[in-house]
Amino acid sequence: DGREKHITEIIEPPEPVPLYKYHCDSKFYLEPLKDMLREKKVYGLIVLDRREATIGLLKGRRIEVLDYDTSMVPGKHRQGGQSSVRFERLREIAIHEFYKKVGEMATNAFLPHKDKLVGILIGGPSPTKDEFYQGEYLHHELQRKVLGLFDVGYTSENGLYELVDKAKDLLSEVDLVREKNLMSRFLYEISRDGLAVYGEEEVRRYLELGAVDTLLVSEDLRLERVRYRCPTCRAEKVVTLKGKAVSRQICEKDGVEMEEVERTDIVLELSEIAERMNTKVEFLSTETEEGEVLLKAFGGIAGILRYKPK
Ligand SMILES: [Zn+2]
Repeated sequence: DGREKHITEIIEPPEPVPLYKYHCDSKFYLEPLKDMLREKKVYGLIVLDRREATIGLLKGRRIEVLDYDTSMVPGKHRQGGQSSVRFERLREIAIHEFYKKVGEMATNAFLPHKDKLVGILIGGPSPTKDEFYQGEYLHHELQRKVLGLFDVGYTSENGLYELVDKAKDLLSEVDLVREKNLMSRFLYEISRDGLAVYGEEEVRRYLELGAVDTLLVSEDLRLERVRYRCPTCRAEKVVTLKGKAVSRQICEKDGVEMEEVERTDIVLELSEIAERMNTKVEFLSTETEEGEVLLKAFGGIAGILRYKPK
């Protein structure tokens, strides 16, 4: 009808947004926010050789450096006057001490993230990374989370990037296996009419009751919650629309056309409820058959329940 609507929505991000993007568009720019929600699972990164070590976290697509240190391990060539046996012995001790220290650095860096930590990657030259892994220098809870060892050339911050790059096939494999497992759990519960729900309204209802343990959302879900308000009586109505879609809402009391006042991506809306209720949120791609099933057969929104409310 030619009228223009200006809508401003302020979403408080769970972490500072590490980028600045000028975006002038009719649609909302939500990808960075969705990335943050995905960041709820993290991978531990360790790169080391005998001289230095860097510890970091992979969160979503971001790498965060947590710790860095250098060793006191002497070079391969001894100085005059030292016996070679004694020199080698001292060198071995220094290497062992350094591995121990890296293990402690990793413990301090990763244990606080234990619940979100999906796995750990170790990078470095051979045989350093193998010695470090086989020598079990990591805390036992971390040691069993090691997903793989990779050859990398750098052991500074650059090494973390190199490590993630080399491990990308393994990482997507791990993600897919996790997704498959989540969906099998959900489908099993559905098949026995047990602890599972699906569909937007049903899931929202159980979420608000605090009954959902894990919320499963398809990454390809494109739905928005749109709030309308009557300009005359101020009555409000919230409807779910396909992304960017507009609809005409008429006030039931006075027959006046309502105005759109707010629009939120449904993923954010549901994630906020999940956050309040301590519900885990999992984004499932449609790269697996199970992920396709979530989107096509269950509307892209499902929940595994903690208990079944009466
Ligand atoms: Zn009205």
